[in-house]
Amino acid sequence: MQKLLLESLIKAPFTEPAPQADTVALAELATRVDRAARARLGRSLSIRQVDAGSCNGCELEIHALGNAFYDLERFGLRFVASPRHADVLLVTGPVTRNMREALQRTYDATPGPKWVVAAGACARDGGLFADSYACVGGVGAVIPVDIHIPGCPPTPTALLGGLLALLTKSA
Ligand code: SF4
Repeated sequence: MQKLLLESLIKAPFTEPAPQADTVALAELATRVDRAARARLGRSLSIRQVDAGSCNGCELEIHALGNAFYDLERFGLRFVASPRHADVLLVTGPVTRNMREALQRTYDATPGPKWVVAAGACARDGGLFADSYACVGGVGAVIPVDIHIPGCPPTPTALLGGLLALLTKSA
């Protein structure tokens, strides 16, 4: 045991170092999303995330938007618990048969103006799971999609860029 403790103190960690992040570019991107949301909606951007059947890889990147590094609530980007409070539905995963009705109902419950962002390769067309008996396809097979953010999974920066593209496209 002592040997293990000693080794853990002197050996380098097995994990790779975290990539260097461009904090200035990130802050600038987040500020642009905030400005665009206020210009378009007169308030900050409220997002309801819907997992329609993903492997949760996309969710991990979405969660990263709220961590101590990205901390995007400071720029006016916030996740809400109900579609009734949302401007944007951020949908991940292929749509499973089990989630089809829930996704449709969530869309119907979201007040206009509303936008749908399909995040990740699976949300576009089913991705890896396209041929599964359990899936009905991409998000567009169930509800109208305004913009797709590519990636498997998309990075937090790509997610922000996609939201900005949505707000500037629909302005
Ligand atoms: S796009 Fe990739 S990470 Fe996202 S749900 Fe599909 S397989 Fe998982």
